[in-house]
Amino acid sequence: MKYYDKLVFELSREGRTGYSLPANPWSKGAETLPAALRRSTPAALPQVSEVDVVRHYTNLSQMNFGVDTGFYPLGSCTMKYNPKINEEIAAMPGFQRLHPLQPACSVQGALEVYYEMNKALAAITGMSLFTFNPCAGAHGELTGLMIMRQYHLLRGDVKRTRVIVPDSAHGTNPASAAVCGLEVVVVKSTPEGLVDVNDLKPLLDDTIAGIMMTNPNTLGLFEKEIVEIASLVHACGGLLYYDGANMNPMLGVVRPGDMGFDIMHLNLHKTFSTPHGGGGPGSGPVGVAARLADIIPVPKVVRSSDGTFQVVGASEKTAGQVSGFLGNFGIILRAYAYILALGKENIKLAGKLSVLGANYIKESLKDAYKLPIPTVCKHEFVFDGLINDGAHDEVHGATTLDVAKRLLDFGFHAPTIYFPLLFHQAIMIEPTETESKETMDAFIEVMHKIAAEAAQDPTILQEAPHTTPVRRPDETRAARQPILKFGDAAV
Ligand SMILES: *Cc1c(COP(=O)(O)O)cnc(C)c1O
Repeated sequence: MKYYDKLVFELSREGRTGYSLPANPWSKGAETLPAALRRSTPAALPQVSEVDVVRHYTNLSQMNFGVDTGFYPLGSCTMKYNPKINEEIAAMPGFQRLHPLQPACSVQGALEVYYEMNKALAAITGMSLFTFNPCAGAHGELTGLMIMRQYHLLRGDVKRTRVIVPDSAHGTNPASAAVCGLEVVVVKSTPEGLVDVNDLKPLLDDTIAGIMMTNPNTLGLFEKEIVEIASLVHACGGLLYYDGANMNPMLGVVRPGDMGFDIMHLNLHKTFSTPHGGGGPGSGPVGVAARLADIIPVPKVVRSSDGTFQVVGASEKTAGQVSGFLGNFGIILRAYAYILALGKENIKLAGKLSVLGANYIKESLKDAYKLPIPTVCKHEFVFDGLINDGAHDEVHGATTLDVAKRLLDFGFHAPTIYFPLLFHQAIMIEPTETESKETMDAFIEVMHKIAAEAAQDPTILQEAPHTTPVRRPDETRAARQPILKFGDAAV
């Protein structure tokens, strides 16, 4: 164990400080706090020098993995590069120091960003209007479904309480429908991994509020029957919801609005390169077709006839308000910087490169990993485990989990595993458009090496990772009973 693997509490020495604050001349001391609110014993905080604090946090940061430390091929999550220029712009004092309650006349620049971003996303997606209220993808789904429900209710169509979701859908889709009080009806996939139109037809009746689809779906496949599906769902009176969390491959190529979708969300923290994960702020703007524009959540930003931007709070038909104020401005700003930095032509290239990269990896590895759906994919694809796992059964041979754990030893983050549920040993890979051919080649080489190890001696994989600070925690206990404090420290 290295010295600085010690916890900061173990480095603590009575009376040591790293920094001394000048006395506050205005303070009247702790005695001004009501006695009931005062601590009887001092907080058990570590007492360490400044250099120990710096090393503690720097070492901690290096025990983690992020897009800035290595290749992160997480399918269905689009972990792409976060350009640093986005961060610089979001940190500009004129943006960072805004307060949401400032009068509109003092935040015209920020309101213009909302307004212009709305136009940019409408152009990219073929939708008419966006709301930036939702703070994540799943939050966007809930908002979109609230809009769908409100649309039917405003027409007095109260019977439509069921939503169709494909069996390949991201788990948040059925969850959002349930949270919105709608009943989920599952439509099956064909062996080719696409929505089965013959299974869909009998489900369509006057109780269907709509369908939620991801296109390309979570297998990375384009739903070729989308135009027919759209006309079937519309003919029965339902609406189409588009899960655009990972819209990379479609950027500048196809627009959900043109495919027939009425409502959609985007994950700015995936497709539009803003930071992602760790529970940080996200943004899941929801766009709607023109006939639903009155129903989107308030407040929204409009441009007055004199050219100034205003915040409009009230609307008779709105599905409601789903967050405080206008949504996570810093994230919207980063995504806006990304869109402007790329421009129209390069955004198209982003879509195409994400597809090229995924197909390159798929074709390079299909001799070693089972490829259940061999057609051309979009930005991601799914393997169903190793072809030669070393023992040909899950007890003695190497599983998908073992492959994922072994990858960590080579400095790559694992792909998404055991999702989608359609395949037992799913390994879902998405390289994203921001990776070079050299990085993908290095990944392909390691995946081949792991496959060779599995065939010769699966225990190398079963005991992996060998080099990470933590090896194989009990994943259930690590999630359900995390130990988040040191010893009995009363913190
Ligand atoms: C990530 C993702 C979501 C959910 O987005 P969050 O921001 O994590 O709530 C929904 N659908 C798909 C397809 C996704 O990949």
